[in-house]
Amino acid sequence: MSTLFLFAAISLFFLAVYALCAGGAYLLVWSVGRERYAAQRIQKYPRPAQVGREIAWSVLSILILSSLLTITWLTAQAGWSLGYFEVDQYGWTYLAVSVAVMAVVHDTYYYWAHRLMHHPKVFRHVHKLHHTFTNPTPFASYAFHPLEAVVEVAWYAPLAFVLPVHPVAVAAYIVILTVLNVISHLGYEFYSPGVARWFITSTHHNLHHARSKGHFMLYFNLWDRWMGTNMPEYEAAMQRKEDEPVALRYHGAHE
Ligand SMILES: [Zn+2]
Ligand SMILES: [Zn+2]
Repeated sequence: MSTLFLFAAISLFFLAVYALCAGGAYLLVWSVGRERYAAQRIQKYPRPAQVGREIAWSVLSILILSSLLTITWLTAQAGWSLGYFEVDQYGWTYLAVSVAVMAVVHDTYYYWAHRLMHHPKVFRHVHKLHHTFTNPTPFASYAFHPLEAVVEVAWYAPLAFVLPVHPVAVAAYIVILTVLNVISHLGYEFYSPGVARWFITSTHHNLHHARSKGHFMLYFNLWDRWMGTNMPEYEAAMQRKEDEPVALRYHGAHE
């Protein structure tokens, strides 16, 4: 398989997952469900013009992520990293465990990398672009500056040298990452308050976009709790009553 074909295949898969997840969520919740789910809306509606920018930056980031995944695939083919291509070599149970290990490693890495990206000297060069979307739609899930796209995937390269990973595990991980990223950027809250103690919610990440401080986690509400970087109003925003007005889950974040 030529390198170009491999890159095209990985990119197309990644872009298709993004289009299905972000596009599906936007269609079902933002368009068709706009009236029906009005009570779940976290902020007021953003100006429509931002969706095009969110998609453009996301497509660029996915191409960068895919090119780095192509390189790690090639290192496995060359026998340099521990990537393998026969599922039977370790079995399906191991494959599922390897996906879970990737999630835990990525979550911890992301918390600290995200905190670093909020350092004033780093923020404006790397992470500011993602925060121009103070009221994101699902299409903002991968709307990163190219430098941030590199930071987002950098954890995987060293891991590939200590953890045997099959391409199917990487594909499954891309699907899980994208689904959860879309939920984080959904702008609507469907989870019960109990979920908020352990996992990221749309309210959690929406507050991060609105305020640009605290709330650095990717999946699990562990590092933010351990390090005291959850905003005090987070739990209250999740506890809000169903009959409260739309877009008033928390104050000061409206366009
Ligand atoms: Zn975000
Ligand atoms: Zn941030």
